[in-house]
Amino acid sequence: MKIILLGAPGAGKGTQARKIMELLSIPQVSTGDMLREAKAKGTALGLEAGRSMAKGELVPDAVVVGIVSERLKAPDMAKGFILDGFPRTLAQAKALHEMGVAIDLVLNIVVDADEIVERLTGRLTCGKCGAMYHRTFMVPKKEGTCDSCGGGLVQRADDNEATVRNRLEVYKQQTMPLVEYYGRFGSVKEVNGTGKTPEAVFNAVKGLLGS
Ligand code: AMP
Repeated sequence: MKIILLGAPGAGKGTQARKIMELLSIPQVSTGDMLREAKAKGTALGLEAGRSMAKGELVPDAVVVGIVSERLKAPDMAKGFILDGFPRTLAQAKALHEMGVAIDLVLNIVVDADEIVERLTGRLTCGKCGAMYHRTFMVPKKEGTCDSCGGGLVQRADDNEATVRNRLEVYKQQTMPLVEYYGRFGSVKEVNGTGKTPEAVFNAVKGLLGS
Protein backbone atom coordinates (compact mmCIF):
# COMPACT_ATOMS: atom_id res chain seq x y z
CA MET A 1 0.00 0.00 0.00
CA LYS A 2 1.31 3.45 -0.95
CA ILE A 3 0.13 6.09 1.47
CA ILE A 4 0.59 9.87 1.70
CA LEU A 5 0.10 11.57 5.07
CA LEU A 6 -1.05 15.16 4.73
CA GLY A 7 -1.57 17.60 7.57
CA ALA A 8 -0.06 20.70 9.13
CA PRO A 9 3.23 20.46 11.01
CA GLY A 10 2.38 19.01 14.41
CA ALA A 11 -0.83 17.33 13.23
CA GLY A 12 0.68 13.97 14.16
CA LYS A 13 1.91 12.71 10.78
CA GLY A 14 5.17 11.32 12.20
CA THR A 15 3.44 9.59 15.11
CA GLN A 16 0.78 8.02 12.89
CA ALA A 17 3.36 7.07 10.23
CA ARG A 18 5.31 5.09 12.83
CA LYS A 19 2.15 3.30 13.97
CA ILE A 20 1.10 2.47 10.38
CA MET A 21 4.64 1.28 9.66
CA GLU A 22 4.34 -1.27 12.49
CA LEU A 23 0.82 -2.30 11.52
CA LEU A 24 1.46 -2.82 7.81
CA SER A 25 5.22 -3.53 7.88
CA ILE A 26 5.96 -0.91 5.27
CA PRO A 27 8.64 1.81 5.63
CA GLN A 28 8.07 5.43 6.57
CA VAL A 29 9.70 7.98 4.28
CA SER A 30 10.05 11.26 6.20
CA THR A 31 11.66 14.05 4.19
CA GLY A 32 12.04 16.09 7.41
CA ASP A 33 14.06 13.25 9.00
CA MET A 34 16.18 12.80 5.85
CA LEU A 35 16.93 16.53 5.68
CA ARG A 36 17.81 16.71 9.41
CA GLU A 37 20.11 13.71 8.92
CA ALA A 38 21.84 15.41 5.96
CA LYS A 39 22.24 18.54 8.08
CA ALA A 40 23.70 16.57 11.01
CA LYS A 41 26.21 14.93 8.63
CA GLY A 42 27.21 18.40 7.45
CA THR A 43 26.80 17.68 3.72
CA ALA A 44 26.54 20.75 1.44
CA LEU A 45 22.94 19.84 0.70
CA GLY A 46 22.18 19.34 4.39
CA LEU A 47 23.66 22.68 5.41
CA GLU A 48 21.73 24.53 2.69
CA ALA A 49 18.49 22.74 3.65
CA GLY A 50 19.16 23.57 7.31
CA ARG A 51 18.98 27.29 6.54
CA SER A 52 15.45 26.98 5.08
CA MET A 53 14.36 24.66 7.90
CA ALA A 54 15.55 27.05 10.62
CA LYS A 55 13.32 29.78 9.16
CA GLY A 56 10.34 27.46 8.79
CA GLU A 57 10.53 27.71 5.01
CA LEU A 58 10.42 24.89 2.51
CA VAL A 59 13.57 23.40 1.07
CA PRO A 60 13.61 23.83 -2.76
CA ASP A 61 11.46 21.32 -4.67
CA ALA A 62 14.37 20.05 -6.79
CA VAL A 63 16.38 19.10 -3.68
CA VAL A 64 13.51 17.24 -1.99
CA VAL A 65 12.33 15.54 -5.18
CA GLY A 66 15.90 14.33 -5.79
CA ILE A 67 16.14 12.81 -2.30
CA VAL A 68 12.73 11.12 -2.52
CA SER A 69 13.22 9.70 -6.02
CA GLU A 70 16.50 8.07 -4.87
CA ARG A 71 14.86 6.67 -1.72
CA LEU A 72 11.92 5.21 -3.66
CA LYS A 73 14.31 3.14 -5.80
CA ALA A 74 15.45 1.10 -2.76
CA PRO A 75 14.31 -2.55 -2.63
CA ASP A 76 12.45 -2.11 0.69
CA MET A 77 9.96 0.20 -1.09
CA ALA A 78 8.56 -2.60 -3.26
CA LYS A 79 5.75 -3.60 -0.83
CA GLY A 80 4.61 -0.01 -0.33
CA PHE A 81 5.48 2.96 1.88
CA ILE A 82 4.16 5.87 3.91
CA LEU A 83 5.18 9.32 2.72
CA ASP A 84 5.38 11.62 5.74
CA GLY A 85 5.97 15.29 4.88
CA PHE A 86 6.14 14.75 1.11
CA PRO A 87 4.74 16.05 -1.17
CA ARG A 88 4.39 19.53 0.30
CA THR A 89 3.85 21.54 -2.89
CA LEU A 90 1.91 20.98 -6.12
CA ALA A 91 5.23 20.76 -8.00
CA GLN A 92 6.32 17.92 -5.69
CA ALA A 93 2.99 16.11 -6.15
CA LYS A 94 3.36 16.38 -9.93
CA ALA A 95 6.96 15.14 -9.75
CA LEU A 96 5.79 12.12 -7.72
CA HIS A 97 3.16 11.39 -10.35
CA GLU A 98 5.82 11.65 -13.09
CA MET A 99 7.95 9.09 -11.20
CA GLY A 100 5.11 6.66 -12.00
CA VAL A 101 4.08 6.26 -8.36
CA ALA A 102 0.40 5.33 -7.99
CA ILE A 103 -0.87 6.40 -4.56
CA ASP A 104 -3.55 4.21 -2.95
CA LEU A 105 -4.56 6.48 -0.09
CA VAL A 106 -4.04 10.07 1.08
CA LEU A 107 -4.78 10.55 4.78
CA ASN A 108 -5.33 14.16 5.78
CA ILE A 109 -4.99 14.73 9.55
CA VAL A 110 -6.80 17.93 10.52
CA VAL A 111 -5.93 19.81 13.75
CA ASP A 112 -6.84 23.39 14.85
CA ALA A 113 -4.05 25.98 14.49
CA ASP A 114 -4.06 26.95 18.20
CA GLU A 115 -3.63 23.33 19.24
CA ILE A 116 -0.79 22.93 16.71
CA VAL A 117 1.17 25.82 18.28
CA GLU A 118 0.66 24.35 21.77
CA ARG A 119 1.72 20.88 20.59
CA LEU A 120 4.83 21.98 18.71
CA THR A 121 6.23 24.47 21.20
CA GLY A 122 6.06 21.77 23.92
CA ARG A 123 7.24 18.89 21.73
CA LEU A 124 10.29 16.85 22.69
CA THR A 125 11.83 14.29 20.35
CA CYS A 126 14.16 11.40 21.17
CA GLY A 127 17.46 12.07 19.44
CA LYS A 128 18.07 8.31 19.18
CA CYS A 129 14.81 6.61 18.11
CA GLY A 130 12.63 9.57 17.09
CA ALA A 131 9.82 8.85 19.63
CA MET A 132 7.84 11.96 20.53
CA TYR A 133 6.83 13.43 23.87
CA HIS A 134 5.29 16.66 25.14
CA ARG A 135 6.23 18.77 28.15
CA THR A 136 2.60 18.78 29.36
CA PHE A 137 0.57 16.19 27.45
CA MET A 138 2.99 13.29 27.14
CA VAL A 139 5.57 13.56 29.86
CA PRO A 140 8.35 10.92 29.82
CA LYS A 141 8.71 8.77 32.98
CA LYS A 142 12.19 10.18 33.58
CA GLU A 143 12.75 13.83 32.68
CA GLY A 144 14.74 14.31 29.47
CA THR A 145 14.92 10.55 28.77
CA CYS A 146 13.06 8.43 26.21
CA ASP A 147 10.80 5.76 27.81
CA SER A 148 11.41 3.28 25.01
CA CYS A 149 15.15 3.49 24.26
CA GLY A 150 16.69 5.63 27.01
CA GLY A 151 17.93 8.22 24.46
CA GLY A 152 18.09 11.92 25.32
CA LEU A 153 15.07 14.12 24.51
CA VAL A 154 15.64 17.34 22.58
CA GLN A 155 13.51 20.21 21.32
CA ARG A 156 13.72 20.58 17.55
CA ALA A 157 15.34 23.87 16.51
CA ASP A 158 12.26 24.80 14.44
CA ASP A 159 9.74 24.10 17.23
CA ASN A 160 9.82 27.66 18.63
CA GLU A 161 6.72 29.86 18.39
CA ALA A 162 7.93 32.27 15.65
CA THR A 163 9.12 29.46 13.36
CA VAL A 164 6.02 27.38 14.07
CA ARG A 165 3.77 30.28 13.00
CA ASN A 166 5.75 30.64 9.77
CA ARG A 167 5.57 26.88 9.13
CA LEU A 168 1.78 27.06 9.55
CA GLU A 169 1.55 29.94 7.07
CA VAL A 170 3.74 28.06 4.57
CA TYR A 171 1.50 25.01 5.07
CA LYS A 172 -1.63 27.06 4.34
CA GLN A 173 -0.19 28.64 1.20
CA GLN A 174 1.75 25.78 -0.33
CA THR A 175 0.58 22.44 1.06
CA MET A 176 -3.16 22.84 1.66
CA PRO A 177 -3.85 23.00 -2.11
CA LEU A 178 -2.77 19.34 -2.23
CA VAL A 179 -5.98 18.31 -0.43
CA GLU A 180 -7.94 19.58 -3.43
CA TYR A 181 -5.38 18.18 -5.89
CA TYR A 182 -5.64 14.63 -4.51
CA GLY A 183 -9.36 15.09 -3.88
CA ARG A 184 -9.81 15.22 -7.66
CA PHE A 185 -8.49 11.64 -7.84
CA GLY A 186 -10.88 10.61 -5.05
CA SER A 187 -8.08 9.31 -2.84
CA VAL A 188 -8.26 11.68 0.19
CA LYS A 189 -9.67 10.56 3.54
CA GLU A 190 -9.88 13.00 6.42
CA VAL A 191 -9.11 12.22 10.05
CA ASN A 192 -9.98 14.69 12.81
CA GLY A 193 -7.05 15.04 15.21
CA THR A 194 -8.15 18.07 17.25
CA GLY A 195 -8.27 17.23 20.95
CA LYS A 196 -7.51 13.57 20.22
CA THR A 197 -4.85 11.31 21.66
CA PRO A 198 -2.48 9.57 19.20
CA GLU A 199 -4.25 6.28 20.03
CA ALA A 200 -7.71 7.72 19.23
CA VAL A 201 -6.44 9.09 15.92
CA PHE A 202 -4.83 5.74 15.13
CA ASN A 203 -8.11 3.93 15.75
CA ALA A 204 -9.73 6.17 13.13
CA VAL A 205 -6.77 5.62 10.78
CA LYS A 206 -7.03 1.84 11.17
CA GLY A 207 -10.71 2.06 10.23
CA LEU A 208 -9.79 3.92 7.04
CA LEU A 209 -7.07 1.39 6.24
CA GLY A 210 -9.61 -1.39 6.70
CA SER A 211 -7.41 -3.00 9.39
P1 AMP B 1 8.96 18.06 9.13
O1 AMP B 1 9.88 17.23 9.94
O2 AMP B 1 8.15 17.26 8.14
O3 AMP B 1 8.10 18.98 9.96
O4 AMP B 1 9.88 19.02 8.24
C1 AMP B 1 10.77 19.95 8.83
C2 AMP B 1 11.26 20.95 7.80
O5 AMP B 1 11.95 20.26 6.75
C3 AMP B 1 10.16 21.73 7.06
O6 AMP B 1 9.73 22.87 7.81
C4 AMP B 1 10.88 22.11 5.78
O7 AMP B 1 11.80 23.18 6.00
C5 AMP B 1 11.70 20.86 5.49
N1 AMP B 1 10.94 19.90 4.65
C6 AMP B 1 10.50 18.66 5.02
N2 AMP B 1 9.85 18.08 4.01
C7 AMP B 1 9.86 18.95 2.98
C8 AMP B 1 9.32 18.93 1.66
N3 AMP B 1 8.61 17.89 1.21
N4 AMP B 1 9.54 20.03 0.88
C9 AMP B 1 10.24 21.08 1.31
N5 AMP B 1 10.76 21.18 2.55
C10 AMP B 1 10.58 20.11 3.37
